[in-house]
Amino acid sequence: MSAAIALRGIARVFPGPPPVEALRGVDLTVPRGEYLAVMGPSGAGKSTLMNVLGLLDRPTTGVYELDGVDVAALGEAERSAVRGRRIGFVFQHFHLLPHRSALENVMVAQLYNRSPRGERAGRCRRVLELVGLGHRLHALPATLSGGERQRAAIARAIVNEPSILLCDEPTGNLDSDTAKAVLGVLEEIHAAGQTVVVITHDPEVAAGAGRTVVIRDGLLYDDTPAEGT
Ligand code: ADP
Ligand code: MG
Repeated sequence: MSAAIALRGIARVFPGPPPVEALRGVDLTVPRGEYLAVMGPSGAGKSTLMNVLGLLDRPTTGVYELDGVDVAALGEAERSAVRGRRIGFVFQHFHLLPHRSALENVMVAQLYNRSPRGERAGRCRRVLELVGLGHRLHALPATLSGGERQRAAIARAIVNEPSILLCDEPTGNLDSDTAKAVLGVLEEIHAAGQTVVVITHDPEVAAGAGRTVVIRDGLLYDDTPAEGT
């Protein structure tokens, strides 16, 4: 079975002047079901890597296979469709629609799902229950706590059963107790089989992951032995 993610020789150069080599030959394989943390100092290339993995940006050179499919070869429309179906995003600042309820925010993620509305709503409700928000389905984001907002954002990110759940500093805006609860939710989702990639500078977040790689000056350091790559 193909890996969830395989990056080979990924470089991203911002033209400048002067040009910035934000990623310089990154190789990374994320097997299905892995919980991977990506750490590194500010300016190291973490967001650039996140944008490449999330199909928000194209690498300058290198190969990116998502579920065994070479996504560099796809046009923009296809990349949007792959992004919507196969990638779940969780950001530091939640990015919920302010005038929509928790349930509606999750339903918005189902743009590419053609099943009947009732079925979709049922699935969204179940995912919100899974993250502990079954009692706040109709609440607006402004009436939710920070931790509840992030759990709603996680529900939105996983509702389509994405190939990867991509989190950028998911606890960066939360106090430490709330952060622990959110990490608990991520660990449960991972235990249920979801592939998770978390970008973080918080060692506590990384401690929950099965493997940690470090990015520094656009280079990724991975000290685990490569298997069959
Ligand atoms: P991190 O998320 O680890 O803090 P980034 O991936 O945002 O780092 O940035 C990596 C490097 O690329 C930095 O030197 C940054 O200034 C540079 N960079 C990021 N985005 C751009 C851009 N759009 N244009 C030029 N340089 C950029
Ligand atoms: Mg960043």
